[in-house]
Amino acid sequence: MNHEAKKIYPVYPCVPCGKDFDFMGSFQMKAHLSRRYLFSASHRLHSDAMSDEENHSTYGKCNNPYGHGHNYTVEVTVSGQVDRQTGMVCNLADLDAFIETQVLARFGHENLNTLREFAQEVPTTENLCIQIYEIVQRGFHFAHLERVRLEETMMNSFEYAGREA
Ligand SMILES: [Zn+2]
Repeated sequence: MNHEAKKIYPVYPCVPCGKDFDFMGSFQMKAHLSRRYLFSASHRLHSDAMSDEENHSTYGKCNNPYGHGHNYTVEVTVSGQVDRQTGMVCNLADLDAFIETQVLARFGHENLNTLREFAQEVPTTENLCIQIYEIVQRGFHFAHLERVRLEETMMNSFEYAGREA
């Protein structure tokens, strides 16, 4: 189901204020919803395009041949009109079910270097964040995906909001 499909009333822009309202004169209420999920995975930062020395000088300890693990926190932000009947942007149960089966089950407790997503790419947290965004963008249609934020440690996080137009 496309998220646009639930918009059953036509929407008109209000000229003075720029907000959208429907034919009943009610303003449409767009809201953002963010939800956080935890998973653990390991990786080794190593690029086949560089020599061992270059890899070591680029990635330092993260190039250790045995890899290392992270407890990742992924925050998914979606948006949409607040549904008149449910009062929700989308049902959290739908978002949870999608993220659990398509993201957490895919990456949780995996060595990221062995996954097909990273056969050609270094499994940095930037690239993992983009992979998660693409999965949600392709498969979750109950709301509009705004962005994915991925925390690697307490000190580092990465955010991806799609390709720039
Ligand atoms: Zn790391």
